[in-house]
Amino acid sequence: MKYIDEFRDGAVARKIAARLRAEADAGRTYAFMEFCGGHTHAISRYGIAQLLPPNVGMVHGPGCPVCVLPIGRIDMAIRLALEHGAIVCTYGDTMRVPASQGLSLMRAKARGGDIRMVYSAADALDVARREPAREVVFFAIGFETTTPPTALALLRARDEGLRNFSVLCCHVLTPPAITHVLESPEVARYGTVPLDGFVGPAHVSIVIGSAPYDPFAAAYRKPVVIAGFEPLDVMQAILMLVRQVNDGRAEVENEFTRAVTPAGNATAQRRMAEVLERRPSFEWRGLGEVPASALRIRPEFAAFDAEQRFDVPYAAVPDNKACECGAILRGVKKPADCKIFGTVCTPENPVGSCMVSSEGACAAHYAYGRFKDIPVRVETTT
Ligand code: SF4
Repeated sequence: MKYIDEFRDGAVARKIAARLRAEADAGRTYAFMEFCGGHTHAISRYGIAQLLPPNVGMVHGPGCPVCVLPIGRIDMAIRLALEHGAIVCTYGDTMRVPASQGLSLMRAKARGGDIRMVYSAADALDVARREPAREVVFFAIGFETTTPPTALALLRARDEGLRNFSVLCCHVLTPPAITHVLESPEVARYGTVPLDGFVGPAHVSIVIGSAPYDPFAAAYRKPVVIAGFEPLDVMQAILMLVRQVNDGRAEVENEFTRAVTPAGNATAQRRMAEVLERRPSFEWRGLGEVPASALRIRPEFAAFDAEQRFDVPYAAVPDNKACECGAILRGVKKPADCKIFGTVCTPENPVGSCMVSSEGACAAHYAYGRFKDIPVRVETTT
C-alpha cells in the first residue's frame, strides 16, 4: 500500500542505518530530541533506537498532548460534569489520565458524571444539537493539529446559535514549548541534557508550516528536521540531523515534504486566529508555567467559553510523588528510571500521564521496549 509499505521497508531502513554508521563521527556523541509523541511511538514500535550507532541517542520530548495536560485541567473537566451537571465530551485518551483524589474522567463517569468519548469536536456539537436542554462542554486538548477542528466547532456553534455548547480550551502550542526546553536549566545552563537538534513534529507542521521553527534554530543554533511518522521518515530525519551537525549547520529542513510546506495551512491558521488567542501563560505537566504557550477563546466568543460560563477556576495540583513524568517530558529521565514503571504503573493502571496514551513515552516503552532494558539473567547449573 502506498505511503505505508514504502515507508516501512526494512531493506531501506538497513541502508539508512549503514549510512548513519558511516557518517556519524565516532569521536563524538549526538543527542536528538523527538518532540512529538507520534515519533516516540514510532521509535519504540520499530526499534529505531536499536538501529542507530551507539553514539547517536534519542531523547523523548514533551509532544504527547495527553501527557502534558496538568492534573488541574482534568479536575476542571470533572467538576463540570459532577458539580455543574454538564455533559463533558472529550477524546478517548483523555478519559484515563489520572486526576486529583484518585479520579479520572473515566472514574468520574462511574460516579455518575455524564462524560462521553467523542472522535471529534464535530461529534460534541452533535451531542449539543441532540440534547438542547443540557449544557454540553467539549474538553479540547492537543497541539496545533487538533486546534482547527475546535475553532470550526466554535464558529459553527455561533452560526447556528447553539446556546448549550461551550469549550474548555486547553490547546497548547509547539514552538513556545521547544523554546522552553532549550531555555531549561538542564539544557541551557547545566548541560545535563545535551541536545544537538530536534526531530520536528509532523502533523503540527502541516498546520503551522516549517517557518515557525526558523527563529529558534537560528537563535539557539539547533538544527530541526521535520519528519513524518513512518520509520523511514524518522531514520532519514536522524541522518539529516547528523549531517547538519557534522557540517556545523543549524537549519530547518523538511523531510516530510509530502505534507508540510513552509507556510502551512493558511485556512486553518485563519480559522484558529478568528476564534482563539494566546494565553499569557499556561501550566504544562513537567514544564511548569510556559509563557504564551497555549490558546484561550477570544472575548467575542465568551458565550462559548466554559471557563467564563461556569465557576471552575484552575488550581495547580502536584503530580504523584513516585511519578517521573515531569522529568521524562523535559528529557531529563527515561521511563525505566521510574521506580514504579511496569510494576505499579502499567497501561491498564496508569499512575502518570505518560503511561496513558500510546504516544506517551512510558506507554510506548512498555508496549515495545521495556524488556530490552532488563539485563539478561544467565541461569547456571552447578
Ligand atoms: S511509569 Fe508511570 S508513574 Fe512512572 S513516570 Fe511513567 S507514567 Fe509516571
